[in-house]
Amino acid sequence: MLAEPGPVCGRFAPSPTGPLHFGSLIAALGSFLEARAQGGQWLVRIEDVDAPRTAPGATEAILRTLESCRLFWDGAVWYQSRRTERYQAALEALSHAGQVYPCTCTRRELAGCPRGRDGSSLYPGHCRTGPRRPERPHAFRLRVTDARLTFHDAVQGEYHQCLESEVGDFVIRRADGLFTYQLAVVVDDADQGVTEVIRGSDLLDSTPRQLYLQGLLGLPTPCYGHLPVAVDERGDKLSKQTHAPPLDERNPGPALWDALRFLGQQPPTDLLNAPPAELLNWARAHWRLERVPSVRARLERQSAGFSPIHCR
Ligand code: GLU
Ligand code: ZN
Repeated sequence: MLAEPGPVCGRFAPSPTGPLHFGSLIAALGSFLEARAQGGQWLVRIEDVDAPRTAPGATEAILRTLESCRLFWDGAVWYQSRRTERYQAALEALSHAGQVYPCTCTRRELAGCPRGRDGSSLYPGHCRTGPRRPERPHAFRLRVTDARLTFHDAVQGEYHQCLESEVGDFVIRRADGLFTYQLAVVVDDADQGVTEVIRGSDLLDSTPRQLYLQGLLGLPTPCYGHLPVAVDERGDKLSKQTHAPPLDERNPGPALWDALRFLGQQPPTDLLNAPPAELLNWARAHWRLERVPSVRARLERQSAGFSPIHCR
């Protein structure tokens, strides 16, 4: 007899660097529908681990916009800024296992190094055998191996990466004492019992680092699905930096409709101006992850209903 599949738990984990815009709505809606369509839980976690990048009021604005879209979450919102002890415990476990080392290299010193997958320097290993400049504050880097990591992404298909040649030993705690996203996300997804990570494909390259950390920490690996990210005509991801307008909280229906189209779903035209609750009822009943285009980026305006009028 097959074991009963356990309860499904999805999550949306925005960084509070600004209000919710069309680009972040895609990840919120995709993760929500994939969880809810399976009768699962859906959590919200504010990824404010990088406190200096947190914009005042952004958390409240994001949560308010989710509520106006009727994307209601289960339980209390988690905040990474309150979870330092858990990250510290993970760092200690990795440290005891000999997997981390202090690194005193500055960004400027590494500027000439070849770049890794995410554009940051591929660490050349200067401090692997001991910090080069022990008098300086140090970061902690995780030792990686040349193993080829492979996983099946529910949207993008097979994905492979060799951490050593494509990413290098990566920082898990910065020299200023802040833990990095890679460590925090792995600890939090495990502590929250997340079984499905549906998020933007700008994070696809990060997933092997997360799988690697899960392996070292003995944590379960959730299923992953990386959605196309919305880009503008220049190919830039919609973000605060590219001045993506915030969603209109008073009338989020059309943006939700557009987001469904963007995700390859086929909402009926007569729901374009429907209240969010009605649109989401339709979406929950008709959601099909396999319809999401398996591309890493999509032009925002490919979805026919989009017009800037929907935005403030
Ligand atoms: N906090 C990340 C972001 O806003 C998302 C992290 C994730 O979903 O794993 O880009
Ligand atoms: Zn170093």
